[in-house]
Amino acid sequence: MRKVLAFDLGGTKFAFGVVAEDGTVLGSGRVETLAQNGPDQAVKRVATAAHELLLKLNLKSSDLLGIGIASPGPLDIARGCVDGSPNLPGWTGYSIEGELSKAFGLPARIDNDTNAAALGEYLFGAGKGRKNLVYITISTGIGGGAIVDGRLMRGANGNAAELGHITLDIKGPACPCGGNGCFEMYASGTAIARRTREALAHGTTSSILSLAGKVENVTTHHVLQALAQNDPLAKKIWDETTEYLGRGLAVIIDVFNPEIIVVGGGVTAAGDVLFKPMREKALRYAFPRLAAVCSIVPAGLGGDVGVVGAAACAFEASR
Ligand SMILES: [Zn+2]
Repeated sequence: MRKVLAFDLGGTKFAFGVVAEDGTVLGSGRVETLAQNGPDQAVKRVATAAHELLLKLNLKSSDLLGIGIASPGPLDIARGCVDGSPNLPGWTGYSIEGELSKAFGLPARIDNDTNAAALGEYLFGAGKGRKNLVYITISTGIGGGAIVDGRLMRGANGNAAELGHITLDIKGPACPCGGNGCFEMYASGTAIARRTREALAHGTTSSILSLAGKVENVTTHHVLQALAQNDPLAKKIWDETTEYLGRGLAVIIDVFNPEIIVVGGGVTAAGDVLFKPMREKALRYAFPRLAAVCSIVPAGLGGDVGVVGAAACAFEASR
């Protein structure tokens, strides 16, 4: 079975693995990124660890099809590097793609991590074989990726489908991207917590406060706990959250006409209490002909999504 080497770069951890063409992770590991020390050290460290993994698996570079790299964006895919990523200061202009390619003598391809996750869910996960698929992740931020007619939509410079920055309200709160009222300013885990803290700061009483201890400690998890106890503020916050998600997903449905939207990220641990209202609202607000063919499902790859997504990029590049 064909195999690839996959790297999943993050601000704190640099994970890697050998992945077979059925999506099985044959071996994996991780090193510290130590991002502040610059890219050269980190890439050398991860390459050494990956060479050791190949030895352990009794594989040579020549047994592999290529290298896939999932990286935080934004990217400059022409140069194979990150381009102003806030978690990787000083990495702009360094060709991660070129250096890893050289280290193993294999072709390499870099994609942003949510685009890689979209490809992973398409090749191996919850949307396997569904040629028009959108992936979104709802965690500290909201990210996305789109498969259009069976190909990953990379865009002009590799940054397509920044779905977290769809504008929901032109008068909304300022977003670090420079815009206002972006989707992720309302519906990410960070935003859910911020909206809850704002309500509590205005004096609303709620069991969320006793669960969290103090206002500054409030997270989405506390909102969900209070929701299970029928707390009125938690219910209000959650209804608003699924409303924002429904509005955002409806835009996504109208743009991409997907047959499936795969939703991952920490907030999806909420399960049905999230998916049921989010799905119902998204399909209600989207253009009916497009809503009629779209299903909205939880992601399938779980914690492997980083490495498996990166591997999916290598498999796609080899097609
Ligand atoms: Zn934004």
